[in-house]
Amino acid sequence: MTGLQPHPGTGATMMGAVSQKIDIATVLRAIGVGHVEKCDPLKFDEAMAAVDRAAAATAAGVAALVFESPCIHVAAPGANYVVDAAACECKECIVKLGCPAILSVDGKAWIDNSLCTGCDLCAQICRFDAIHAVAPEAAQ
Ligand code: SF4
Ligand code: SF4
Repeated sequence: MTGLQPHPGTGATMMGAVSQKIDIATVLRAIGVGHVEKCDPLKFDEAMAAVDRAAAATAAGVAALVFESPCIHVAAPGANYVVDAAACECKECIVKLGCPAILSVDGKAWIDNSLCTGCDLCAQICRFDAIHAVAPEAAQ
């Protein structure tokens, strides 16, 4: 992870001066990695498809997947999210996603919007359509 930290991909030095921007995918291709792909990990279906392609490509050699998404420390927060407790059934987002904003309350998922960045990932994985974006005043 390189979020908020100085690294050669930012196009700036640690002191903020404009510098050469190094693209990690280009570096990987230059050293001979056969399968190099970039994707946004917050687009769940696309990311899963990219993981499958990379896994399949390992049969022929080295494969690399570069996940790129705006750093939550600098990007503007997205919408607030709420869980419809009546539709909440499976605990999957609680046990599998690892998002610190999702808590278990009375056996149902509950979102602490003071920690939620509005990434939408939980809504994308919920098979019961129980998670929805709402206006800030409608969030708990
Ligand atoms: S994935 Fe959906 S149904 Fe399952 S616990 Fe989370 S909100 Fe509830
Ligand atoms: S929208 Fe993203 S940050 Fe907010 S609760 Fe869902 S997974 Fe967590």
